[in-house]
Amino acid sequence: MTVVLDTGDRPRHPEKAHRPDAPALPKPDWIRVKAPVSKGYAETRAIVRAHALHTVCEEAGCPNIGECWEKKHATFMIMGDTCTRACAFCNVKTGLPGPLDAGEPARVAEATAKLGLAHVVVTSVDRDDLDDGGAAHFAVVIRAIRARCAGTTIEVLTPDFLRKQGAIETVVAARPDVFNHNLETVPSKYLVVRPGARYFASIRLLQRVKEIDPGMFTKSGVMLGLGEERNEILQVMDDLRAADVDFLTIGQYLQPTRKHHPVVRFVPPDEFKAYATIAAAKGFLMVSSSPLTRSSHHAGEDFARLKDARVAPAR
Ligand code: SF4
Repeated sequence: MTVVLDTGDRPRHPEKAHRPDAPALPKPDWIRVKAPVSKGYAETRAIVRAHALHTVCEEAGCPNIGECWEKKHATFMIMGDTCTRACAFCNVKTGLPGPLDAGEPARVAEATAKLGLAHVVVTSVDRDDLDDGGAAHFAVVIRAIRARCAGTTIEVLTPDFLRKQGAIETVVAARPDVFNHNLETVPSKYLVVRPGARYFASIRLLQRVKEIDPGMFTKSGVMLGLGEERNEILQVMDDLRAADVDFLTIGQYLQPTRKHHPVVRFVPPDEFKAYATIAAAKGFLMVSSSPLTRSSHHAGEDFARLKDARVAPAR
């Protein structure tokens, strides 16, 4: 049974609420973000609110929100604002989610049109409480966007659908342009950072997408600064390449609150660049690696580059 503890406006699993405060390292100079004050930001916020939608930009406290929302790039988070997992890095609230909202797919599609998105990213909370993990709802959202915004390309960033038979197939059958699932960290950190997940199940999900539809772009991401070792990151790259993943994103982990996993280290920009070079050499079609890289950051521009990279002759 899940016990939900209400600690103010964000109910959390007891293991997160009772965790002792973790130390917070001072942010280095290279973690600088734009304040969310622009006209575009206000317009994006108004459209999100008018359609009663959630965004991971707000729920996760993303540092790029000022920049992205100025350009009307919002990433929708479907199936509610409450997650059934309690990952140590994540700011999304944890608890027992409500029922699915049958009107949500049409509102996501309408908001996509209002924002004028050429490329939309749709993610979700984990829905371990649903028989299919929410896969059918993802498919309905994809189809609703296709019907309303014919020219918009669609990227899904899904949960791991752990032990949800047929879920991956359901989402792939709806034909998103990019199937993204983030590993988040190296296998040795899973028990602490992603306790409800299994590293090889996540790798297998990505591999399975390519088995079902070899033409579909696949993407995954990891955060640095959680205490991982360099050789572990290189191993993750190899595992992702073995699963034929096209696009790798690498960003700095930032601690949402003192109840979350501490930042063990702020990785300097040069190290991110070095990882990008190694990843490219390992055969990823695209790599985005910088302290403020997030899987949905510049996703539209990156998708265009990803398509170009596939048709470009191998060098
Ligand atoms: S990087 Fe992604 S999650 Fe962050 S603000 Fe931009 S679109 Fe939203």
